[in-house]
Parts: sequence; structure tokens; C-alpha cells
Amino acid sequence: MEQIKDKKVPMRMCVSCRQMMPKSSLLRIVHTPEGDLKIDFKGKQNGRGAYICDSEACVNKAIKGRIFNRVFGVEVSQEIYDYIKDEYSNNRR
Ligand SMILES: [Zn+2]
Repeated sequence: MEQIKDKKVPMRMCVSCRQMMPKSSLLRIVHTPEGDLKIDFKGKQNGRGAYICDSEACVNKAIKGRIFNRVFGVEVSQEIYDYIKDEYSNNRR
């Protein structure tokens, strides 16, 4: 992936690999007011967001390391991690 250096491009940190990346190349994971985690493909979901690279390596690492527990400071169930993983693979093609 090409690194964009333009200062006008909003940068966010991937919670998995901790690299700063252009926001547009990251996936937004939202902790909704209902307590779910979702991949916010449209960037419009309400709730606290975290960013992660749109890469299988980073998504899998986040799921294996249960990174979202730490990021959001909540206990995230295994079902939710499985759901995120499915959502991610279903939207990758
Ligand atoms: Zn990453």
C-alpha cells in the first residue's frame, strides 16, 4: 500500500499494528451504545470507534489478541469476535 504523506489526509492509528495510516484505508470498528462491536463499512455508525487496517493480518491479530477488550475497556465476548471475523471475510472479495 502506498503511504500518503499529504498533511490534509486524516491519519489514524491501527489498533492492531499501531501504524499511522490514512483514515480512508482503515476499517472503523464501532462499539455501539447497545454494547455490540461492528465493522462500520460506511463510517456512519454511532458509537466509539477504533481503526484497524483493512488487512487480514491485522484483523486476525486483533481477534486473536482480543485487542478490542483493551481498546474499548469492555469485556468483548468470543461470539462478537467471531462475528467481526465473519463480517470481515464476507466483505472481502
Ligand atoms: Zn494494522
